[in-house]
Formats: sequence, C-alpha cells, structure tokens
Amino acid sequence: MIALNYHELVEATPSNAWCLTHAAFDAHLALCGERLVSPQSFLEHCADRKASRTDAVLLTFDDGFLSDYTHVYARYVTTGRIPGFMSFIPVDFVGSPGRMSWEMIEELGRAGVAIGSHGMAHVDLTKVSDVELYRELTVSKSMLENRLGQQVTLFAFPYGRFSRRVWEAALKVGYTHLFTIHLGYHRGFESFLYSRLCLTNNMDAKYMRQHLIDPDAMRGFAWRISTKLGLYRQLMRLRYR
Ligand SMILES: [Zn+2]
Repeated sequence: MIALNYHELVEATPSNAWCLTHAAFDAHLALCGERLVSPQSFLEHCADRKASRTDAVLLTFDDGFLSDYTHVYARYVTTGRIPGFMSFIPVDFVGSPGRMSWEMIEELGRAGVAIGSHGMAHVDLTKVSDVELYRELTVSKSMLENRLGQQVTLFAFPYGRFSRRVWEAALKVGYTHLFTIHLGYHRGFESFLYSRLCLTNNMDAKYMRQHLIDPDAMRGFAWRISTKLGLYRQLMRLRYR
C-alpha cells in the first residue's frame, strides 16, 4: 500500500511548501481516487504483506489544520467521495487560529476518521529530554483518548524526525503504528514504522503519477544498492540508533 501525507489545503495562494490548493488535491484524487482505502482497512491489512493490495492508497493529514474538517471531511468524507483518512493532531495547537477545535476532532472521530497523535507542541522529538519526550507522547495520547473515548495508537513523528530512542518510547507507552515521511511503500524498515510520501506544492501531477505507479522509483541510490545486498534494514538501524 501507499500512504500519502498532506497538511493544509487552501482555495488559493499556498502559504508554504506543504500547503496545497484544493485544485491540486482534486488532481491527486483524479489519479488515485479509485485506489483509496479507509484507515480501518489499511490498519487491518497493513501488517500482512500478501493480503495488502500493493496499489491501495491511504490519505493522512498532519498538524490538525481546519481544512481537515472544513474541506476533507465536510466535502469528501460526508459525501462518500473518499473512504476516510487519518488525522494527526499536535494537541497544543487544538483550537488555535487555522486549526481544528476539540468539537471538530470529536466529530471526525465519531465519523470514522482515524485520529492519531502528533505530539503536544510539534517539536523535534530527537532533540528533547527523556522527560519531555515522555510528556509529548503520553499527555497527547491521554488527552486525545479522553476526548474521543477510544484508544489512540497511531503516532506521526513531528517533522518526520525520529530515532531508536523515540520509537522505543512511543511503543512503550502504547502506540502501535508510527508514521514517518519516508518514500516507498507503506512498510518501513521496522514492522511498526510506516512510510508516507509528504506532498509539497512543487510536486506536479507527473511526479504524483510516477509515485503511484512505483513509490520506490524516487528512492535514492543508497536504498537501491543496500536493498539489493539485503543490508537496508541494518543500515537504517545504524542511522537511527
Ligand atoms: Zn507536523
């Protein structure tokens, strides 16, 4: 399967590289709409190499932007145009300008949108103390769980930054699926890591089309060689130790 990662969607004039226009999102859906799977279906099949459809596509959105609710949910989920998505929330941002309120997040949760944690203050977790890391992981988890009335086991690393210390802490406090922003198919180099293509507004439809045909095609020479030699996992373990 292929997991895509979006941030804010706007009508026009994106304010940064990770902000896409509604038209760009529509162009992506035109390419992969038929292949979209719900987060529930993704979670059911993601661990099984054989059962998971290679061409299936999962949509994920990070940072709790208002457009998760006003655009993706209101215009696409409620009308059945997409089968749901994952939304990763940095809890300190809830209710601030341009971000969703708790009521909106609760409504998404009730409607089957899979809500995950994106930490508290959107900090690089590889740079914080053990105490701060624990707080980022556990307080965000319990605040989301209290609001949603359900377990929160999905986590996306802020800025996609992680290390062995970070993933071990996340697993220890009860997260089961940890989302990165690596290229390629959904399975990361560890069974609990999930790769996602992070979309920026300089990636045109051609790039997207290529990614949907073969998400590994854009990966670098080092990945190609180390995979061929069966050393990729070892190399990544060294890199992220
Ligand atoms: Zn983020």
